[in-house]
Amino acid sequence: MDITVLTLFPEMFAPLKESIIGRAVNGGKLNIKVVNIRDYAENKHFKCDDYPFGGGAGMVMMPQPIGSAIEAVDPEHRAHRIFMSPRGRTFSQKIAVEFAQKENLLLLCGHYEGVDQRVIDMYIDEELSIGDYVLTGGELPAMVVCDCVARYVDGVISGESLKDESFSAGLLEYPQYTRPAVYKGVPVPEVLLSGNHEKVDEWRREKSFELTRKNRPDLLK
Ligand code: SAM
Repeated sequence: MDITVLTLFPEMFAPLKESIIGRAVNGGKLNIKVVNIRDYAENKHFKCDDYPFGGGAGMVMMPQPIGSAIEAVDPEHRAHRIFMSPRGRTFSQKIAVEFAQKENLLLLCGHYEGVDQRVIDMYIDEELSIGDYVLTGGELPAMVVCDCVARYVDGVISGESLKDESFSAGLLEYPQYTRPAVYKGVPVPEVLLSGNHEKVDEWRREKSFELTRKNRPDLLK
């Protein structure tokens, strides 16, 4: 799968070079290309933002550099084009699974007060939010989307890990324990040491329900 990110701050994407996502990229399972919008600005000082028409606080990202960048990286509109925005539909694991089936994603990161509306209307397929709060830019949201979508790309994570985790079956995950069996006098639940897989599964199911009821009762509806 190919993900192209358009941003004014490409250096912010260093975390995607690390850990599981970094290995997936190095192993050729996933291609993440980070493009600097400023490289496409056609004015003398490579300016990419200007004052909002009608007045108001802050700056707005100008349409020309973004439009030219999108036309250059996705000339045939093969990518599903997403604008990271608090106004969009809320990202979820279900949407990540849906996006992982696509061959090309394009993520546009806004900054300052946002992006000239004409560029959204002309080039973007959907606006996507990572939650009901406002961040300074779309870079962290785009990284959240890259990380979560990458987990569902074939071969990045074992299918077994994806099966049992939070939200996969509409519940939160059960508590996990590892060695030592006793830590500061606190033992792990005995059933986990019993070797009885049926009992372990039953205990985990119960704990999943218990945690979901306590922390996210909305998921049980
Ligand atoms: N003025 C905009 C508004 O009230 O909707 C907020 C602009 S925000 C300061 C700058 C950029 O950060 C946005 O254009 C968007 O790309 C990104 N952003 C901020 N919060 C976000 C969120 N919850 N989800 C996705 N992107 C977000």
